[in-house]
Amino acid sequence: MKTFGPRKSSGFSWLALSATLFVAAWPCCARDVVVHAGTLLDGVSDSPRHQVSITVRDDRILSVDSGFLAPPGADIIDLSTATVMPGFIDCHVHISALLPTRTNATEYWLTHTDIDRAFDAAVFAREMLQQGFTGARDLGGGDETVAVRNAIDAGKIPGPRLWVSLEPLGPTGGHADRTSGLDAGLSHPGWERGVVNSAEQARLRVREHRSRGANVIKLVPSGGIASTGDDPRQQLMTDEEMRVAVETAHSLGMKVAAHIYPAAAIENAVRAGVDSVEHGSFATAQSFALMKAHGTYLVPTLSVYDVFYAAARDHPELLRPGTAQKELDNDLLPKRNLSLAVKSGVKIAYGTDLGQGDHTMEFALLIGNGMAPIQALYAATRNAAELLGAATQVGSVQSGRYADLVATTQNPLDDPAQWGHVSFVMRGGIVYRRDGAPTAARVN
Ligand SMILES: [Zn+2]
Repeated sequence: MKTFGPRKSSGFSWLALSATLFVAAWPCCARDVVVHAGTLLDGVSDSPRHQVSITVRDDRILSVDSGFLAPPGADIIDLSTATVMPGFIDCHVHISALLPTRTNATEYWLTHTDIDRAFDAAVFAREMLQQGFTGARDLGGGDETVAVRNAIDAGKIPGPRLWVSLEPLGPTGGHADRTSGLDAGLSHPGWERGVVNSAEQARLRVREHRSRGANVIKLVPSGGIASTGDDPRQQLMTDEEMRVAVETAHSLGMKVAAHIYPAAAIENAVRAGVDSVEHGSFATAQSFALMKAHGTYLVPTLSVYDVFYAAARDHPELLRPGTAQKELDNDLLPKRNLSLAVKSGVKIAYGTDLGQGDHTMEFALLIGNGMAPIQALYAATRNAAELLGAATQVGSVQSGRYADLVATTQNPLDDPAQWGHVSFVMRGGIVYRRDGAPTAARVN
C-alpha cells in the first residue's frame, strides 16, 4: 500500500535494491487498492450510497461498485463505518500567507524573502492536505507559489494539487500594489509584476505570468479591505483593461478570478468575461442575476472576514497600516449577503482566502449563513472542480478521476463538527492520513 512519509531505516541489501528497481521499472505490478466506504457522498448525486467499493489503480479511480469487493491480490482500506467524499478543494488560498496572530503584516512582508515564504508555504500546504484539501487555487503570491506547486507535483513535499495565479493584476495604488502606504522611495524587485495601468500592459502581464508558471489569472478590479489607502467601494481597473486581460488569459487556456466588492464593478467584470467573482461583498440581487446568466462563479471567502474582523477588534497593530477600521466597517456584510446569493441560484465555490489556518472553517460559515450542507460539499468539490476547469480530473468519486478521497467517522451532513475532523486523506492514490489504522496511527 502506498503511503507518504519518512522511509523506515533498513539495512542495505542488493536484494532490496534490485526489488526496488524491479518495482520502479514495472509499474504494472503495483497492487490495486480497494477502499470500502460505509457511506459514499460522491460529489455527483444528492443521495448517499452505502457499502461501496472504490477501486484505485495507481493514481486514478478505476471503478466504483456496490458491495464490499475483495479481489485477490488487492490491498483493502477498511472505511466500512466511515463516510467517504471527494477530496476538498479551496478555490481561494494564499498558500504562503500567515494568520494575523504574531507579526504585523507589513513587517513580515519586508523582512522575509520569497525563499522564506516557500518554506512557510510548504508547512501550510502539508497542513491543508491533512485537513482534507487535495486541491487549492492560489490567488496571489510570488515565484514561491510556483516552486511549491512544482515540488508537490514532483512528490518532493506533501500538499494539495495547486493552481497558482502569481501576483494579482491591478492598478497603481490599488489593493494589489505593494508600495501603497509605504515611503514612496521604497521599492523591491518584483513589486511591479502585478501593476497594470493600461489594456496593453494587462495583455503583457498575463503573458508574463503564463511564462513564469501561472495557470490561472487573478485581477483586482476594485479596491480592497486589508490594503492601505484604497477604497473597496471603488472600481479601479477600467472595463477595457479587464476585457483585454480576460481575452488574453482565455486565449492561453487560463481562467480568470476577480477580487471585487461593489455591485457595479461586479457587473462590469462579469460582462468582461471573468470566470469567478471573489468576495463579491456588496453584490445585489441584480448582480447575482447577471452572474447566474453568465455562469460566473461566486467565491464568498467568509473565513477571511471572520479572522480579520477578530484581528481588527483585538489586535489592530497586526494589520497593515490604516486597515483595521475598514475591516470593522465591511467584514460582517458578506455573511449577511450569502443567503441572497444562495437564493439567487448563482454558482458558488468554496474559498477561504487563507494560507496558514483551518481551511475547513468555511463549511460552518456557509452552512450557518444559508447554504444546505450538501451544497457546501458541492461548493468544495464538484463546483470547485468546474471553476478550475478540471471537472473530468477532480471533484467527484467517479471512474477516471484522480483518487483524491477523504473520510470522516460520521456523516458531516448529519454532524457538522465532522467537517473539521477528517480522519483519512488519499491524494492520487497515496494515503497521507489514516487515523486509527492498526499499523500506522497517522501517515506523515
Ligand atoms: Zn485573496
